Amino acid sequence: MILLLLGAPGSGKGTQGRLLSEHYRIPYLSSGDLLRRAIEQDTEFGRQVREYIERGLYVPNTIMVPAAITELTRLRHSQDDGGAVLDGFPRTREQAEALDRDLTTEHTHLDRVLLLNVPKEVLVTRLAGRRVCRSCGASYHSDTKPPKKAGICDVCGGEVIQRVDDKPEMVDGRLTVYFERTLPLVAYYQQQGRLAQVDGNRAEGDVTHAMIAAAKDK
Ligand code: AMP
Repeated sequence: MILLLLGAPGSGKGTQGRLLSEHYRIPYLSSGDLLRRAIEQDTEFGRQVREYIERGLYVPNTIMVPAAITELTRLRHSQDDGGAVLDGFPRTREQAEALDRDLTTEHTHLDRVLLLNVPKEVLVTRLAGRRVCRSCGASYHSDTKPPKKAGICDVCGGEVIQRVDDKPEMVDGRLTVYFERTLPLVAYYQQQGRLAQVDGNRAEGDVTHAMIAAAKDK
């Protein structure tokens, strides 16, 4: 099964994507994590993309598409199922078309696109308090879901930090970019009959159950 999670920054794609990947025992691919890892490791690719992320801008498709598709192919072929949970890629119409073309050549397709709906004021509060592990990407919130030991990831013991692009002055711009460039994908996948909408403004477990139900209901 190949699932795509759509939703604004702070809608819970990362948290839910990891939970769905465990539930279905298929790999989880976050394009944001892929980029942040490359920046952390100071690779050539990381140096190419750093400035875009730090300014809250999308990485150009010419750089993003080959990197994401190569990683997806590697992950899908690393297990028999051939499935994956995608978070953050595709994020533009051009990326969605490129992914569809690639999956067609692999004789497969996206099974379900799950859109997480969360009101804008909730997104802003979530992003203001969001903290992430710089090693494994696990997500926390300074007020509602802090790590057990301050600054240390419960999952892997890595350092828990605030992302540069979660700083308050960056959030509005990122949400605008999302509404302009990614929201049109809702109509794109609706036309393909693949879209399901899930209320993401609920307890974590309730959202996961709703997403699993929506993924089944094809
Ligand atoms: P995320 O972790 O998904 O919020 O992504 C963090 C940042 O990485 C975004 O604000 C973009 O700068 C960049 N990014 C992640 N995925 C993509 C993508 N599919 N296309 C372009 N830029 C991306």
